[in-house]
Amino acid sequence: MDPNQGRTQHFSERDTIKTLVRLSIHTVLFTQRACGSKRLFHGGADSIDEVKVSVQGGRRKDVRNPTIEVVRCASSPLRRHRSPSPASASAKGSSSGSRLPRFSCTVGRVLVTTMTMLVAASLVATALVIVNVSTPLGATADPHPRAGTPKGAAIWKDGAARLPTHLKPIHYRLRLMPFIWPGNFTTAGELDVSVACLESAYNVTLNSKDIKIDQDSIKVFEEDDDQNLGRELILLMPESAATNSTDQDFIIYTSDQLKSGSNYRVQLKFVAQLNDILQGFYRSSYVDTMTGEKRWLAVTQFSPVDARRSYPCFDEPALKATFEVSIARTLNMTSRSNMPLERTEPIVGMSGWVWDHYPATLPMSTYLTAFLVSDFETLEEDVAAGNGVPREDTPAAAFSIWSRRDALNQTRYARDISPRILGHYEEYFGVPFPLPKVDMVAVPDFGFQAMENWGIITFRESAMLFDPKESTASSKQNIAMVIGHELAHQWFGNLVTPAWWDDLWLKEGFASYVEYIGVNHVEPGWKILDQFPYNEIQDVFALDALNSSHPISVEVNNPNQIRQMFDRISYGKGASIIRMMNHFLGEETFRAGLKSYLTTFSYGNAVQDDLWASLTAQAHADGSLPADMTVKEVMDTWTLQTGFPVVSVARDYENGSARLTQERFMITGNEKGDDADAQPTWWVPVTYTSQDKPDFENTRPALWMRPDEDPPATLTNLPKGKFWVLLNTKETGFYRVNYDHENWNLIRSQLQDQAGTGTVVIPPITKSQLLDDALNLARAGLLPYALALDLCLSLQNGTDYLPWASAFRAIKYLDLMVVNSSVYEQFKGVMLSISRKLIDAVGWGESTASGEGEHIDALKRASGLKWACHWDDNDCVREATARYAQWMAESSGGAMRKAQFRNSTSKIPPDLRRVVYCTGIKHGSTKEWEYAWQRYLSTNVGTQRDVLLDSLGCTQEIPLLKKYMAGVLDSSSGIRKQDGSRAFAAVANNPLGSQIAFDFLRNNWNQLLSYYGLAFSRVASMIAAATSSMNTEAQLNQVKTFWKEQQGNLGSTGRTFQQSIEKVAANVLWMERSFEEMKKWVESHSKR
Ligand SMILES: [Zn+2]
Repeated sequence: MDPNQGRTQHFSERDTIKTLVRLSIHTVLFTQRACGSKRLFHGGADSIDEVKVSVQGGRRKDVRNPTIEVVRCASSPLRRHRSPSPASASAKGSSSGSRLPRFSCTVGRVLVTTMTMLVAASLVATALVIVNVSTPLGATADPHPRAGTPKGAAIWKDGAARLPTHLKPIHYRLRLMPFIWPGNFTTAGELDVSVACLESAYNVTLNSKDIKIDQDSIKVFEEDDDQNLGRELILLMPESAATNSTDQDFIIYTSDQLKSGSNYRVQLKFVAQLNDILQGFYRSSYVDTMTGEKRWLAVTQFSPVDARRSYPCFDEPALKATFEVSIARTLNMTSRSNMPLERTEPIVGMSGWVWDHYPATLPMSTYLTAFLVSDFETLEEDVAAGNGVPREDTPAAAFSIWSRRDALNQTRYARDISPRILGHYEEYFGVPFPLPKVDMVAVPDFGFQAMENWGIITFRESAMLFDPKESTASSKQNIAMVIGHELAHQWFGNLVTPAWWDDLWLKEGFASYVEYIGVNHVEPGWKILDQFPYNEIQDVFALDALNSSHPISVEVNNPNQIRQMFDRISYGKGASIIRMMNHFLGEETFRAGLKSYLTTFSYGNAVQDDLWASLTAQAHADGSLPADMTVKEVMDTWTLQTGFPVVSVARDYENGSARLTQERFMITGNEKGDDADAQPTWWVPVTYTSQDKPDFENTRPALWMRPDEDPPATLTNLPKGKFWVLLNTKETGFYRVNYDHENWNLIRSQLQDQAGTGTVVIPPITKSQLLDDALNLARAGLLPYALALDLCLSLQNGTDYLPWASAFRAIKYLDLMVVNSSVYEQFKGVMLSISRKLIDAVGWGESTASGEGEHIDALKRASGLKWACHWDDNDCVREATARYAQWMAESSGGAMRKAQFRNSTSKIPPDLRRVVYCTGIKHGSTKEWEYAWQRYLSTNVGTQRDVLLDSLGCTQEIPLLKKYMAGVLDSSSGIRKQDGSRAFAAVANNPLGSQIAFDFLRNNWNQLLSYYGLAFSRVASMIAAATSSMNTEAQLNQVKTFWKEQQGNLGSTGRTFQQSIEKVAANVLWMERSFEEMKKWVESHSKR
């Protein structure tokens, strides 16, 4: 944190413009309309007693366009004395009497040049008393910053930042009338919001974006304790009573003062856009198969900063209020919102229209409010909780699952598992779900996977709708996980909300962890808890091993920065360190601590220190953490620092000990990045087991490694002699482990022995961890490739899912690097020979596993066959292309009419489709591609659409790749905006398509940014996809040049761009450092 934040600097009256110039002011926004008159300047200094300078981020280097606010009302007497300190000027209770409270006058802003500023500032200089270097946007300073709030934020060219803190919303009354038809697509609205005034001021500042507010409708009233309207306040000069200072806010200036301690009502009318960028209150559509008609609907996506596109509001998570919403609709539609419908009444003078009135919500944040107006339907049986089947885990809340009519039969899986997951969470957290109902809605166009709006959860279709005949096992798992995630948010995020977006991980990390607990409850056969390291830790390690990664908790101010927080670090790393905490505290302490946290902060906000405090108190009470340690001390090293450690184990085989050291794991290995002196270190919970007494269940730390420990930590009581030792049991810690070569060889022998004999000593979850660690240590140059690849040889006799999944991911990297090299043919041969047993075992038939193992078998089959065909295994290609041809023959005579496809189910089992489609298209021609394209256009199943989108990128025909790519920017192509980045990645992931993808990105940058917007990281994911296989110096320069050209035009893609450049640089380094080593190993194994 910047030490300058929040500091108020005091200046004497002699401090004049020079002070300001010293602060590097080039341009100022000068207060002119304050106190309603230009007399401020004409009348000389007698009306002024303060000047505040607001500086973005509170850092001197950020001083570009500071705000100077001249604060004083004309009616006040001149006070030429030095001002009291800001602490004593605290506004509360100081507003009575004739003396106006400090920090309180209204500002207006006029952009003036430096010259004008010089003249004006010299006028005010005699009264200059305080230069406040950290005032947030708006009229008031912030003597009581909200907890966790990055202070010093203000409005600058990056867009609006923080609202002033003098008003707190209490209760919104909102009437919305969306017009959902071509030629209109707007929402007429009325806002009537009660606010409490915490510090006296002359302005109401709301967030508002792309909303037209009717200036004549603006009214501000005093309000009594019973929320009755009192005196109407006089607004500042009517023609300039309200304005925007940025494109994200709207400021109403009052002539009468808003007094601290009083409540007010702000009323206004507005017109908002029902846009097509999937943000705010937006429009979506689908084609009804029965009528062939295009049907429109309106739905919301407000997180993180887009409620302000729907209605003017105080759009910050800590500004919780209650919401009473009325939605107008035509009679052929229905509406839904956070609360159950209360009553419906006709709209006078608008035949065919009604108002739906919803009761007030519980206190909640704006980003969680949601509205839906559609003709969606719900299965009758959904309405009763648990479908009338009493279960122990059925919650009191009623569930309704909504979709377009054609997809209703795909809602059954969500209906089956969702109430049970919610019920399980109620029991697990010990805190009941507070709302009477949950609506779950599958939306045809949706930016994220899903959104946890309180009581009305929205999903993209492929993340909620499951068709057992059409959807794959991995789709089913994804659906269950997304549902588990969004339901977890009903507590983590909705009930207790991060105070600001810098603590986004507090809700996303938790939801991403707790989803495993929810899914494990409803699908125990999936052994989903064992999948955690592969799905989350090993995945996010790749990103967090970059210099350009970031801490979990990081200061963010403007919308672009906020949007970039929605990445794998907040989600995957957040979840991983919570899991680590669960294991080092133990289950009982963890759950009790969470319950206390959720109870203490219900309907309020929290920062990460609040969580640490709840858990520490519980841990000390339970004795599960030493009294001299706190959770905060440990966890701050994980949330405030970038990266993660690799723990190196140097064993002494004779005396049975091992010396442990830690350093940050970087994908470039020993290249330590920008600041070699300041390498982070962590509190590392060390768990271990050994060959003499293997125990893979105990995950409580045997030892803590401390940051900057000297001498290094030492493990004792290890077996003496040649027995293996393994650290980080079940990969519960967020770190990698490297061993001396002797120990690695002992591990390899064990893995080979047990693969041969069939006895499991080292379980699959640990084997998966070892393979991932070894192959990535080799990638980073910390372990010889020969040793890591020799470890892979133990896979030859094994068919367990997790070790193979981890190995395939690491091998995928090798495949990308060598695909264009002379060794690739041999590489494929060696890989096929290692995976032969797996490929033969999974086969093309149905699963032979009964019940529980079926799901894992399906996942294994899908990935085993995918790689077999990818490496051109003859049998695989023959089988896949034959099945593709059969699929094409299914449509009689090959006449590809949409109506024919719509209800036809392919005979290919869902889990084989990905490999059949991709291989059929790869080894086929235009005919095969066109067939899949037509099926894509006509399918009714979102999960199937995803598989087809991926497979269309497998073609070897350059013109088809180009044609497909062009559809990404063409709204009439049939590729929905929500799917554009998926289609793009499908082309980019094809070795023949990666350059096409990069060129497309470069040539259409501005169009892509404007078509896709900045909200959902879609363009950012395109950058990552287009550069992932680049590994030459020339390609690196290409990306760097492109990045330089787009400086200032990167939107929210800046961080991903940096990461991509770093990854390409690491690939170039890998080619120099490791290619020959790897080639040698392949050649030596290829001869056998
Ligand atoms: Zn989430």
